[in-house]
Amino acid sequence: MKFVDEYRDPQLAGRLVAQLHQAATRTWTVMEVCGGQTHTLVRSGIDRMIPEGIRLVHGPGCPVCVTPLELIDRALEIAARPEVTFCSFGDMLRVPGSSRDLLRVRAAGGDVRIVYSPLDAVRIAQTHADRDVVFFAVGFETTAPATALAIRQARQLGLRNFSMLVSHVLVPPAMEMILSAPKNCVQGFLAARHVCTIMGYEMYHDLAATIHAPIVVTGFEPVDLLEGLLMLVKQLEAGRHVVENQYARSVQREGNRHAQQAIADVYEVCDRPWRGLGVLPKSGLRLRQAYHDMDAERRYPSSAAASIEPAECRSGEVLLGLLRPDQCEAFGTRCTPEHPLGAPMVSSEGACAAYWKYGRRLPV
Ligand code: SF4
Repeated sequence: MKFVDEYRDPQLAGRLVAQLHQAATRTWTVMEVCGGQTHTLVRSGIDRMIPEGIRLVHGPGCPVCVTPLELIDRALEIAARPEVTFCSFGDMLRVPGSSRDLLRVRAAGGDVRIVYSPLDAVRIAQTHADRDVVFFAVGFETTAPATALAIRQARQLGLRNFSMLVSHVLVPPAMEMILSAPKNCVQGFLAARHVCTIMGYEMYHDLAATIHAPIVVTGFEPVDLLEGLLMLVKQLEAGRHVVENQYARSVQREGNRHAQQAIADVYEVCDRPWRGLGVLPKSGLRLRQAYHDMDAERRYPSSAAASIEPAECRSGEVLLGLLRPDQCEAFGTRCTPEHPLGAPMVSSEGACAAYWKYGRRLPV
């Protein structure tokens, strides 16, 4: 298949691994930001092929995993309301809240639906005028253009029965926070190509200079990841810290201006809490004042019941790259995809799910 097979070519991958072994003369710790990259690294065994000195740690790039428990509980509360049709991407349905998940709300009679696009939720609102349709807008800069378009379309259609529970987060503030954390060990980043396809990578130049860490925009296929790692290691070995773009076949320096404009029309930047990372300044998006009437957080009162984090779940440390999933004591015993204690075990981009799915159930 064009543009897939060549990026999974074993011979090319082998040559890149050999170059990595030549390039790395000492120990380096690098973080892949996105959960999709984590899954490829573990699925294809890259983490076991590269030189021992290159330590990969998994980043907070799973939007489901970083959604705070308070917001998940809020979603569950709204979804359980009899007048509400609650729409979400499938990933969120099994994410545990303090006492239940969206599947249980549905089993108890709640109208909870999986949609594949926010525009599907707008269509449901259009065809079911008697229902209050709420879309759970979770995601990074990648998803925000589509949810912004849904908001604009609902406004153009004059829909009064459509709203959104917004939990959009922005990647650069999290990278900055990780490097400034007291226990940080990360020395360079593989940045996610899909975020940069939308946002470009101009914003990373200042960041790389400020945090003194190289950043390589990298794709999700095995050859992409090996090439991105090689570029990163060469910079580290040379004491350089600039931004490079491995994924030039899609990512432009300035990104997609139309998508950025759609985001800016509908959202404004705000401080936002991240699960495991705390409140990060200017790290999220919220609806602009003109769209407050479509803000589900404003539309539905909160019970203000306290959210209770499962004491055993160490997802905060996993998301910061301080703990490997299989180093969590609950991994594979009290926490499995069937009985998850935390979001990283059920999200398709979660690091714990990757370790479980690809058989990393014993320490390497
Ligand atoms: S294995 Fe389960 S309990 Fe441990 S950090 Fe991952 S999600 Fe949380």
